[in-house]
Amino acid sequence: MLNVIIFGPPGCGKGTQSKLLARRFHLTHVSTGDLLRHEIRKESDVGKKVKPFVDNGLLVPDKIVMRKLYHEILKHSDTRGFVFDGFPRSVLQANALDKFMNIYKVELLLVIAIWVEKEELFRRMMGRAEDSGRSDDKEQIIDKRLQVYHLRTKPILDHYQQQNKLFFVSGMAPVREVAGKIASLVESKLP
Ligand code: AMP
Repeated sequence: MLNVIIFGPPGCGKGTQSKLLARRFHLTHVSTGDLLRHEIRKESDVGKKVKPFVDNGLLVPDKIVMRKLYHEILKHSDTRGFVFDGFPRSVLQANALDKFMNIYKVELLLVIAIWVEKEELFRRMMGRAEDSGRSDDKEQIIDKRLQVYHLRTKPILDHYQQQNKLFFVSGMAPVREVAGKIASLVESKLP
């Protein structure tokens, strides 16, 4: 199985790059943000629970995210592999994913961290705020999401660095160029 994590701060282009990568290598794209927004739109019990966290730019509790993620993985058990987008976002989630992969005897191929300057992240998110329709694309919340990224999510990089799975790609270049670099990295790691 070909499993890849696309990692990076909000606004770095994770969503776009994950979709392009999934299409190119025939993988299943899993965005925990999309899964959670879907629950919110459905006004399900999970949706009601997670809405205040998403609206305020906070991390949804790990237990809820892991349950949604396991469900999604098992739904696509015949896939060639997954591109994880926006997951893991805490050290606990990274550990839980390791355990899950061990149990199912599957491997993580690599983690690609997209690097973008802070001013550019802000500019992109403010730019998309008008048409994204996302409750969390607002100035104050964007700021919060970036803080949460630095505090809770960035420490995961050490976790994958120790496993020699971590690679950086600059997200400052045009979309196609970034996609090309990501694809080359994946190809170089294929068994
Ligand atoms: P995203 O679409 O990845 O930017 O995620 C939007 C929001 O969904 C985040 O700000 C969090 O509130 C929530 N979220 C998405 N993925 C996760 C995750 N792996 N863990 C916790 N919260 C998440």
